[in-house]
Amino acid sequence: MRAAAPAPIEWVAPEQAEFFDSVLRFARGLPDDAGDLDRSGGFSRQNWDRCGAFGIHGLPAPEQYGGGGADVVTTMLALEALGYGCKDNGLVFSINAHMWTSVIPVWTFGTEEQRRRWLPGLCSGELIGCHTITEPEAGSDAFGMKASGRRSGEGYVLNGRKTFITNAPVADLLLVFARTEETGIGPFGLSVFLVEAGTKGCLVEAPADKMGLRTSPMSDVVLDDCFVPEAAMLGTPGKGGEIFQTSMRWERACIMASQVGVMRRTMEACVAYARHRRQFGKPIAKYESVADKIANMKIAVEASRGLVLRVGWLMDHGHETSMDAAVAKAFVSEANVRTHLDAVQVHGGYGYMTEFEIERALRDAVGGTIYSGTSEIQRRIIARGLGL
Ligand SMILES: Cc1cc2nc3c(=O)[nH]c(=O)nc-3n(C[C@H](O)[C@H](O)[C@H](O)COP(=O)(O)OP(=O)(O)OC[C@H]3O[C@@H](n4cnc5c(N)ncnc54)[C@H](O)[C@@H]3O)c2cc1C
Repeated sequence: MRAAAPAPIEWVAPEQAEFFDSVLRFARGLPDDAGDLDRSGGFSRQNWDRCGAFGIHGLPAPEQYGGGGADVVTTMLALEALGYGCKDNGLVFSINAHMWTSVIPVWTFGTEEQRRRWLPGLCSGELIGCHTITEPEAGSDAFGMKASGRRSGEGYVLNGRKTFITNAPVADLLLVFARTEETGIGPFGLSVFLVEAGTKGCLVEAPADKMGLRTSPMSDVVLDDCFVPEAAMLGTPGKGGEIFQTSMRWERACIMASQVGVMRRTMEACVAYARHRRQFGKPIAKYESVADKIANMKIAVEASRGLVLRVGWLMDHGHETSMDAAVAKAFVSEANVRTHLDAVQVHGGYGYMTEFEIERALRDAVGGTIYSGTSEIQRRIIARGLGL
């Protein structure tokens, strides 16, 4: 029997494992200013740009538009490595949001002109994107949105308020979802507009203060008689529901890959701490109740990676993945919260202190059970998939 391989992803193709290692080396080399930025609520544009120059932002997009042409599994592995090596979970979240809600829809639904105009900058990271779906009265029920796009001359006039918009304070491009058919209900009659930041009537409010992911900027966006030309429409009029589903399909599948890396980083920190920290004359790792918590973290990492990459494989092979992505999203986000609660406990009082960075990762983890559809909504999708 062969000895256990040190790499936890030994079953992927050698070139994918090599790529994982190169992203990890890159991520570990990023300047680590996450602690200070977390306190101030800042955003590291420098590290964003470094990730862009490395090729992260455009990984799954075609090379002809400045992307990396990677398949979904390779993209997920890169994002796991980024989450593992880079301690700025907010930055990694912002990159994920940008990829799934801007790069993917512009590539998938854009006209040739829109792709050429936006994708090279979005892929290189020179441009930052965001999508505006959630409204104060329409969260989980996203299709209950009220923002309107009224036909006017050679374009549309947008009105409404969008809330909790990741990257909005730093965005160059906003994908605005609005109802263009008054009689349309639910996903029907919605359209999506590519709105350049600074367009008259598109007001990005002050950055929101939040519990975690504080290094990922977020704000409300107000649309006040914002005129956009017809050419700004992404995809077919009234078919914005499809764009939403496509973004969510990618986001729910891929955004958790980075959390696998974060959990692994935390698990390894716990192993090192539990071996080193002595109480009652022996390392705390020798107490089963401590060791079991860390063993549970290992289970969480391996099970999470398996679920995430399985969805990636299904996407690469053209399968429908809404239920599988919901399973992965709910499992990994909840495992991430449990892992970090246990990590605080393993570190005792030190885990509760900001210096050890565990409490920050716990605060960052909580958002995962809310964004991209709450855990409750993922279970609704799973139940529906089971015919319940
Ligand atoms: C960090 C972060 C980043 C985000 N980024 C973006 C972004 O970039 N763009 C964007 O448009 N939005 C974004 N959001 C918004 C996010 O999509 C919503 O917060 C989420 O969909 C939940 O909506 P809500 O907050 O209004 O909660 P609500 O929908 O009001 O839910 C409140 C509670 O009720 C439960 N609930 C609601 N409906 C049901 C149901 N049918 N069955 C069972 N339980 C239910 C929910 O699960 C939750 O526990 C972000 C949110 C966070 C936290």
